[in-house]
Amino acid sequence: MPRAERRPATRADAPNVIVIGAGIGGMATGCYAQMSGMRSRIFEKHVLPGGCCTAWSRKGYLFDYCIDWLIGTAPGNDANRVWRELGALDGKTITNFDLFNRVVDEHGRSVTFYNDPDRLERQLLEISPADAP
Ligand SMILES: Cc1cc2nc3c(=O)[nH]c(=O)nc-3n(C[C@H](O)[C@H](O)[C@H](O)COP(=O)(O)OP(=O)(O)OC[C@H]3O[C@@H](n4cnc5c(N)ncnc54)[C@H](O)[C@@H]3O)c2cc1C
Repeated sequence: MPRAERRPATRADAPNVIVIGAGIGGMATGCYAQMSGMRSRIFEKHVLPGGCCTAWSRKGYLFDYCIDWLIGTAPGNDANRVWRELGALDGKTITNFDLFNRVVDEHGRSVTFYNDPDRLERQLLEISPADAP
């Protein structure tokens, strides 16, 4: 069933919620208010919603300003539950990589930020055993 149809009908005397700002936080708040049977209205000072999470096209280029990776995608994670409840992950495929990023200095030495904390710890200790304590 489409998400909107699962939403309880808003009663005429339902509380009104006013949200300032249509970033992810404000839009999520507005959705949760309506999912809880309230009326919500979101006021945004910019011409578009999205806040920091935005992208735009200009002269054939796409300026994708946000979300290279999404925090809280792992099942069982609180943020995952919120994304699921909001329908933000509907129809999306989540890809989990072994590493978050790799930083290389001017001498070619690198440090890799693995998602597995034990692997990350082992590597950091190889680079700097003195930091073990
Ligand atoms: C370059 C960049 C890359 C990022 N990459 C990632 C990523 O890969 N993964 C990830 O999980 N997160 C990423 N983030 C972080 C993520 O984008 C933010 O945490 C998230 O978008 C913040 O949402 P928000 O609703 O809290 O705030 P905001 O997005 O800041 O939204 C606030 C909104 O309120 C509006 N507003 C402010 N004051 C008023 C007012 N007085 N009246 C009306 N409207 C008002 C603003 O215009 C804005 O639209 C990135 C952020 C940036 C900048």
